[in-house]
Amino acid sequence: MTAPLAPGATIGILGGGQLGRMSALAAARLGYRCHVFAPEADSPGMQVAAAHTIAAYEDAAALARFAAAVDVVTFEFENVPAATLAALEPLAPCRPGVGVLQVCQDRLAEKAFLARAGVPVAPWRAVHDEAGLAAAVGEIGLPAVLKTTRMGYDGRGQAVLRTTADLAPAYARLSPRPLILEAFVPFVAEVSAIAARGADGSLAVYDTVENRHRDHILDLSFAPARVPAPTAALARRHAGEVAEALGLIGVLALELFVLADGTLLGNEIAPRPHNSGHWTMDACLASQFEQHVRAVAGLPLADPSRHHDAVMKNLVGPEGLALWPGLLATPGMAPHLYGKAAARPGRKLGHANRLLPLGSLAGMADAAALAGL
Ligand code: AMP
Repeated sequence: MTAPLAPGATIGILGGGQLGRMSALAAARLGYRCHVFAPEADSPGMQVAAAHTIAAYEDAAALARFAAAVDVVTFEFENVPAATLAALEPLAPCRPGVGVLQVCQDRLAEKAFLARAGVPVAPWRAVHDEAGLAAAVGEIGLPAVLKTTRMGYDGRGQAVLRTTADLAPAYARLSPRPLILEAFVPFVAEVSAIAARGADGSLAVYDTVENRHRDHILDLSFAPARVPAPTAALARRHAGEVAEALGLIGVLALELFVLADGTLLGNEIAPRPHNSGHWTMDACLASQFEQHVRAVAGLPLADPSRHHDAVMKNLVGPEGLALWPGLLATPGMAPHLYGKAAARPGRKLGHANRLLPLGSLAGMADAAALAGL
């Protein structure tokens, strides 16, 4: 696929979650239709898409019909089976392609890739059995973090090892294996940078943001990150370099740890729009979702510059939902809900972006409170 997608063309999205929903809304604004493919009925993405398929990712006949009905395929979460994208690739252009998915689905491949792309990472070892865990701890030391290599998100599938007594129970609990052992990083902040890369290789990278988690789930993002300017610039540069090294067509988030001396260590790549980029929906002319659609459709990328400072608050579970009426009534607040039926604890139901004049976040000691969140 070389020419840009014509207005009215259809973008196929694998996955029915909120990231696909917000991508479909951005696509509609640019004149495209979306067809969401997911196993769950009435998913947030399907509610706003022109067409949908409810089928298993392994359903070859459904995948073939989906490929015939769309002009390009993308995915909204990286745990879509690689075999699904591999089955689609001969039938329709897939952006990003299966190679990108394979790197980002496997923490071992991802860590090796980050290092090759020039992003420093904490020491790590692959762990194939219990003896291997003991050996890896011997080399890396404690504390350390033991993680599953696949399907981990929001802190699931990982354990912090503080003493040797923690090794056996953590190994017994975590599966599927193999696992990865990482040195514990004494970070002072977690940041991320979102990069879009177009079909022509052009790059658009948003400002680096600072992320705060609660119960392992992203709670707040501050845009821009309150870190030294060279650190913020380096995070953006790394995100662009990773997008180039992956040959990405689409959007990715690069999550990084910031050490006390400003050094950055890469943690994870998400090869899709990311929760830490939701602030771009209201604080930039073009959101990460629009950039993703532009890239996938072969359109020129948009200017990623920020016209406001922003604090993004995730609305998680029933307590998050309880904030909704107040958020609607708060000046300068842009609230978003994802249309999920059940407000289960720990579930991301929406978010709100509090906009602030440019330059106001820098130096704010407690920006969350000042932003009225
Ligand atoms: P992850 O699923 O790898 O993004 O990890 C979830 C969260 O666990 C991160 O956002 C960090 O807060 C924490 N974490 C992950 N890996 C490490 C590490 N090697 N050292 C310290 N904290 C970590």
